[in-house]
Amino acid sequence: MKVRLATSRGFCFGVEDAIELAEAAVEEHGPGRVVALGPVIHNKQVVNELEEAGLNQSGDLETIDPSKTVLIRSHGAPPETFQRADERGLRIIDATCVLVKRAQNVVKQLHEEGYHVVMIGDPDHPEVRGVIGYAPNVTVIDEETNLERALPYRERIGIVAQTTHSPEHVADMIAKILKRPYREVKIVNTLCLEVTRRQEAAMELAREVDVMFVLGGLHSANTRELARLCQEAGCDTYHLETWKQFEPSMVEGKQVAGVTAGASTPESVIAQFVGELEAL
Ligand code: SF4
Repeated sequence: MKVRLATSRGFCFGVEDAIELAEAAVEEHGPGRVVALGPVIHNKQVVNELEEAGLNQSGDLETIDPSKTVLIRSHGAPPETFQRADERGLRIIDATCVLVKRAQNVVKQLHEEGYHVVMIGDPDHPEVRGVIGYAPNVTVIDEETNLERALPYRERIGIVAQTTHSPEHVADMIAKILKRPYREVKIVNTLCLEVTRRQEAAMELAREVDVMFVLGGLHSANTRELARLCQEAGCDTYHLETWKQFEPSMVEGKQVAGVTAGASTPESVIAQFVGELEAL
């Protein structure tokens, strides 16, 4: 089968940095001495490898032994988490991506400037849960939200978005917000260019191939967005974690397959998938 790869795909610098920090922390403190607060990134294979190297994981800060070191993942965490870790005497290694950090600072600054902050994002995503902790009463909206009910009336609102959303989606949501009678709306672009580049490359490829494979964690927001955009571009699209989920019926009657991968998908997963697909 002929296989074409998206020109921009796979690991972003934020994910690479987080993995490097996690590996370095385990090397410095020893296996079993560092605990990640939630999965370091949304990719099972990478998380398993880090666990095998000696990185522990916990979803609850309160249960972590104070003699251990806590690793804050690339998605970041709200200020209370840092404060609580400090109170419990835990040493912290902060692997929050610099672009997520920037979104946190923007939210804080908008609030200090007197704007009511509105974040376009998935309210259940760890990045969003962390970012909204940097100002009180942030309103989170997504495509499911009833804006009439959710958006409060304030003179001035400041808008940010989850870093992994597509510019098209954010523009649509902003257009809906602007239909309401706000006197002043300040929009700060918090989208990640690494993600935007992968989205553009995926959509371009999806228009030229018979079937698209988007590789990455099923919980990875940026990978899911890639799959949604490829589907929207009119291409049959499959979001798979690895070659293990592949089924021959997916390429029945197809000549050319396109492959892309989310920002937390390692090159080894992409290379194995492409090798197997080309061998068909
Ligand atoms: S996708 Fe962008 S915001 Fe998210 S970790 Fe990577 S570089 Fe950072």
